[in-house]
Amino acid sequence: MFKIGCHLSASAGYVHMFKEAQSIGANTFQFFTRNPRGGKAKAIDENDVNEFNRLTKENNFAQILAHAPYTLNACSENERTREFALEVFLDDLKRMEYTPNNLYNFHPGSHVGQGVEKGIELIAHTLNSVLFEEMTTTVLLETMAGKGSEVGRTFDEIRAIIDKVELNNKLGVCLDTCHIYDGGYDIVNNLDGVLEEFDKIIGLDRLKAIHLNDSMFGFESHKDRHAKIGKGHLASDAIIKIINHPKLRDLPFLLETPNELDGYAKEIAFLKENRK
Ligand code: FE
Ligand code: FE
Ligand code: ZN
Repeated sequence: MFKIGCHLSASAGYVHMFKEAQSIGANTFQFFTRNPRGGKAKAIDENDVNEFNRLTKENNFAQILAHAPYTLNACSENERTREFALEVFLDDLKRMEYTPNNLYNFHPGSHVGQGVEKGIELIAHTLNSVLFEEMTTTVLLETMAGKGSEVGRTFDEIRAIIDKVELNNKLGVCLDTCHIYDGGYDIVNNLDGVLEEFDKIIGLDRLKAIHLNDSMFGFESHKDRHAKIGKGHLASDAIIKIINHPKLRDLPFLLETPNELDGYAKEIAFLKENRK
């Protein structure tokens, strides 16, 4: 099954997201658990979530991906910001259990001058404080472009975080195609080599989702500016190789391209046409 979807607004609830996804030919989607700039999450509506669980099962949906707010920085130099990260993480993981067995993705964070080592330590500390044995959610570390002091640009940094987490059977990785290309992994000319390296350092069994984005800027630009599919420096050929690659093709692919719903519908149709 080709698992394909895009980022959707969560403001009208779970059933609404399901219907929106279905209307554009998607069988998965991503959403923010709360305002991406932070703030309080809407209370869970149990009727909405129960109906959603029924609909996704009945329609054979793939795993969905919840995205933590951008303001969650587990390795900030500011203690209050780290506390906020902890609070949001705990609350989100509790909420995730209303839709069991799905994925929760977060940006490892920015160390803001404290150094990568310290950043890794703080991120692992947060994960050790929020993961719990009974959870059914898999928490994903997103690969980053290396903008500013972002941690998680290299596979080694991701590996180092995972190694410091006790319940690391709850952890996986979300690979963002724009981010890793910007970050210095040449998935245009050497996709096999990059995946081999990922496998050697992190292990491909940890890879649980792909953020499928083109990149507005070039290789190693560290910019993190997403482009529409085929309209950036990755271009269509590389993206078509990615969705068909034997080591990636069974993963959920989530678009985070600059689009409204109709633009997403077109990209999904294009990707389906090019799925072998
Ligand atoms: Fe992200
Ligand atoms: Fe992403
Ligand atoms: Zn991005």
